[in-house]
Amino acid sequence: MSDTYDVVVIGAGMSGLVDAILLAETGRRVLVLEQHTIPGGYLQQFRRKKTTFDVGFHYMGSTEPGRPMRQMLEHLRVWSRIDCVPFPADAAIEVRRGDCAFAFPATWQAFVDKAHATWPGEHHALAQLVADVERVCGAYKWFALRKGREYAHPMELGLSGASLQDYLEPLTDDPWLREVLGFQSFNLGLFPHEVPWVKHTLAFRSNFDTTSRVRGGGGALTDALRARGTELGVEFRFDQLVDRLDCADRRVVEVHTAAGERFAADTFVAACHPKPILRAISDQHVRPLFKDRILEMRESRGAVQLFARLREPLRSLGATCVMLRDPAQEHGDPPLSTVLVTCPSAIEGEGSGDARIEAMTYMHIDPFVRWIDRPVLKRGAEYEAFKQRLVERMLDLIATHAPELRSCIDQVYSSTPLTDLWYTRNEQGGVFGISHDVSQQGSERPMIRLRLKNLFFTGHSITMPGICGTFINAFDSCDAIRGDGVLFDAVAV
Ligand SMILES: Cc1cc2nc3c(=O)[nH]c(=O)nc-3n(C[C@H](O)[C@H](O)[C@H](O)COP(=O)(O)OP(=O)(O)OC[C@H]3O[C@@H](n4cnc5c(N)ncnc54)[C@H](O)[C@@H]3O)c2cc1C
Repeated sequence: MSDTYDVVVIGAGMSGLVDAILLAETGRRVLVLEQHTIPGGYLQQFRRKKTTFDVGFHYMGSTEPGRPMRQMLEHLRVWSRIDCVPFPADAAIEVRRGDCAFAFPATWQAFVDKAHATWPGEHHALAQLVADVERVCGAYKWFALRKGREYAHPMELGLSGASLQDYLEPLTDDPWLREVLGFQSFNLGLFPHEVPWVKHTLAFRSNFDTTSRVRGGGGALTDALRARGTELGVEFRFDQLVDRLDCADRRVVEVHTAAGERFAADTFVAACHPKPILRAISDQHVRPLFKDRILEMRESRGAVQLFARLREPLRSLGATCVMLRDPAQEHGDPPLSTVLVTCPSAIEGEGSGDARIEAMTYMHIDPFVRWIDRPVLKRGAEYEAFKQRLVERMLDLIATHAPELRSCIDQVYSSTPLTDLWYTRNEQGGVFGISHDVSQQGSERPMIRLRLKNLFFTGHSITMPGICGTFINAFDSCDAIRGDGVLFDAVAV
């Protein structure tokens, strides 16, 4: 006999936690099944010698009233349970290449004003950029958040097939302006020629108004979401890897877990990577062509990360999030693209634990596949040496901007796409699930719904990745599941 629920959510990452709240708040009996021993997915943290490090949370934007993250967190009744700490108003995210630097302010209007002051000869290009960004964001309902309007899907707007590079080339001849705007393709883990301009625009704009961090990082956000779910009666079961979905009459009937348990429900939400879920459904219930197409889609790049406990704070980087690029490292083997450096203790201030930095760059899993079958912490000396070489290159790059770095370091830890694959089961350890690149858009992408009427997909592989994007996907999927039309109106202003 299987236990029966109104809803079974597969995955207790950020997406699954948000889905569980949105469905439980309507009175549904919700069960969340998570393969790991703890919730959070990419919002997990780890602790070494009393220092806590964040795995997949550096910053989020849109935390002002009326903006998407704030409205969604307030609707979930989670806003009052977290402490959002704004980044410096005039330098939230700084991009640097060699001696050139540009600091993006934390609000959109301040960025627009600063851009006009920095590039006085580019008024026309900047006015065009602002108009285009506002058009895209105003057309997407979860960004515009205004009631009583007709909305299109952003990928149905003009230019939806263009990359950021396609957009920037005719916009301006100024190489540094192009590069500053191009840096932000980091938000989707893609280069400017790969990132769809429309999606990029949504992700880029969402980081303003106001760029913030949650005090206590991804763990604090996870705890707040889980506490709200528990308050609404959501049940959580850990160590439950869903590995089979039984279907009949175009419906999922029950899920099986590797622990040998079965759970039946009226509705199932796959809040994890879609590929393992599709593999867990027999071919007679999903069109094989569709299944093959999704299974063949490219994954997003994974992350190589370093986590350093410091003897004292890194004063030359401070509370700003810094993106660094170095042409020499870009041509190294393997190439190192942009490195993002965050100093959480500097941002969160006193009482936020030991001084530390977290730095990441993107890398496909290819150079690591030879160790893919080896368990975490047992991948051997060759893997450790390869990882160490990458860490040294990242430290060298950071040290060119923060010369005191090496003398401040107490201990360094690191991770690769294999680490993320191990803990979250995201295929190839991809930071954003299925790659959101220009060639994988439109009806080609996995959608909220398949042929199976009561199975819904959500999470960062669906419409938008990142924290704000994943929240939006969860609200969008739950809007479809609830079907009462009140969710959007409850969040909109
Ligand atoms: C290094 C890094 C840095 C990042 N930095 C930022 C940032 O600064 N700002 C930002 O906006 N975004 C950032 N992101 C992206 C953001 O963290 C993710 O987009 C988001 O957390 C994804 O949430 P999710 O719930 O969709 O997926 P996940 O976090 O992957 O959650 C899926 C959950 O499902 C579970 N699961 C998987 N398969 C099964 C199964 N078969 N049965 C049961 N459970 C299963 C997993 O264990 C996991 O808990 C970063 C990501 C990384 C990796």
